[in-house]
Amino acid sequence: MKSETQHYEKLRRNIVGILAVVALAPVLLLAAVNYAEFQASFTAETQAPFVSMVGKGKNSFELFLAERSSTVSLIASAYSFEELSTPQTLRHIFQAMQSEFTGFTDVAVISDEGILVAYAGPGQHLQKELMGKDYSQQEWFHKVQAQNRYVSEVIEGYRQYPHVLIAVQRHSPDGRSWVVRAAIDTTPFSRLVADMSLEPGSDAFLVNRSGVLQTDSVNYGKTLGQFPLAVPPPSYEASITKALDEQGNAILMAYSYLRNADYVLIATKPARNMLQSWLLLRTDILLIFLGGALCIYYVAAKSVDKLISRLRESDLKRDQAFSQMEHAQKLSSIGRMAAGVAHEINNPLAIINEKAGLMHDLLSLAEDFPRKEQFLRQIEAIHSAVARCRDITHRMLGFARRMEVKIESLDINEMLEETLLFFKKEAQHRNVRIVEELEPALPKIRGDRGQLQQVILNVLNNALAAVGENGQVSISTMQKDTNTIAMCIKDNGCGMSEETKQHIFEPFYTTKGNEGTGLGMSIIYGIIQRHHGEIAVESELGKGTLLTICLPISNTLQEEQA
Ligand code: ADP
Ligand code: MG
Repeated sequence: MKSETQHYEKLRRNIVGILAVVALAPVLLLAAVNYAEFQASFTAETQAPFVSMVGKGKNSFELFLAERSSTVSLIASAYSFEELSTPQTLRHIFQAMQSEFTGFTDVAVISDEGILVAYAGPGQHLQKELMGKDYSQQEWFHKVQAQNRYVSEVIEGYRQYPHVLIAVQRHSPDGRSWVVRAAIDTTPFSRLVADMSLEPGSDAFLVNRSGVLQTDSVNYGKTLGQFPLAVPPPSYEASITKALDEQGNAILMAYSYLRNADYVLIATKPARNMLQSWLLLRTDILLIFLGGALCIYYVAAKSVDKLISRLRESDLKRDQAFSQMEHAQKLSSIGRMAAGVAHEINNPLAIINEKAGLMHDLLSLAEDFPRKEQFLRQIEAIHSAVARCRDITHRMLGFARRMEVKIESLDINEMLEETLLFFKKEAQHRNVRIVEELEPALPKIRGDRGQLQQVILNVLNNALAAVGENGQVSISTMQKDTNTIAMCIKDNGCGMSEETKQHIFEPFYTTKGNEGTGLGMSIIYGIIQRHHGEIAVESELGKGTLLTICLPISNTLQEEQA
């Protein structure tokens, strides 16, 4: 029984497993593909505007610087060294520069030996000090000589405000060269940053290649402060990377190197902002997937449960049908054999009976036979033994349906009452209580009176034998459904062991030794079968037995047979 349960449980697990895998695999695949696609497109969609904003900002910065350095370049090539070194002319030029472009704060001309020869700007009073200043050892001067054009990092210098130097070297056809250097104020930088129209929480600024801030930053300090994070690797296209800020929060960093100056434009924003909506979507996807998976599992488990219990039921029914068939076959073959044996035995029995009768007659006539009385007693014993044998063979033949059948309308209650009369005396004598609960409106059924009487007789016989002294036997009848009545005989007697229960319907099976014939129950079984009824036994050793016999009310098939 246990291994059978395990078998069904295993079957159930396997089917549910296979169903779940087969149904879930495509869903899982779909969810994974969706997840990856969504993530990719989401990231692209949300990051793209940020990157392109930095690209545009970088272009503005480049344009700003390009315009200014072209102006300086134009001045360097449009005028001769002599003209430029004349303070009057230079002042004139400077005024023109200021009126055309914002941001120029001074302009100076430096000879190719690195000596300042002319200066125009707000610090006119510095003119004297500056004149003749030697720049030949300064780095920017070397750079402009090497590259012809140079844009410095943001410096404060003696002017005490952040500015950028733009220097251009000019070679005249006669082999001379000079440098025009202009300073521009970096306040327009913050305007350019503002023009990038940042979202709240984000930040944009310029740094030089070593991370010194070239403009003010909201989160990382003022101009010339140090940007605390690593400067991303060179890229002249706007790109994006992820980084951790000083507090360990993930940030997105879009950046681009400027082509015409050693600046990097960086924009940052917390990754959380961007990820939040993605995370929401991801939770949705996960929830939908999990919900779907649960539904699939639930439905699979439920339907498989149903399937398995049906399978189990039908297996059980099949087994029962098999054992019933087996049983019926066994009974019928034993019955046939028994009938044959009974038939064969009846003849010798008749002879024995006849011979014993003859002996009796002869003895009765002989007056001087010694021990006549003793012999007559023995012959009497032979007679009663023969009668007993005949009784048995008669029953055996009954069991094998060798008796005539007559179908009529029968009142089971009446038959019960009638049969009980035989038992009342014995019951009283042994102090056995007989309880009757007969349904008064019990419909009549069609059947063979003799046979059904035998059933009742055998059942009551067994019940009474089981209870012994001071027991109780209850008999009840009821209508079970429109075409079935039931008769229950319950006793509180010795009950049956499992072994006995399995064999009670077999002919000659008895637990009563010589007292029993073992034919009662098998006869009952045959009769009930023939009446298209059912018989059920519930019994527990030491507690008692309940025998339920169901019989159909209208029994058309039976009448045809009869
Ligand atoms: P017999 O009564 O001659 O033994 P049956 O065919 O009538 O043969 O019964 C077969 C066996 O079934 C009995 O020997 C007895 O063990 C068991 N049996 C039948 N009815 C009952 C009952 N009401 N209580 C206990 N055992 C019973
Ligand atoms: Mg019996």
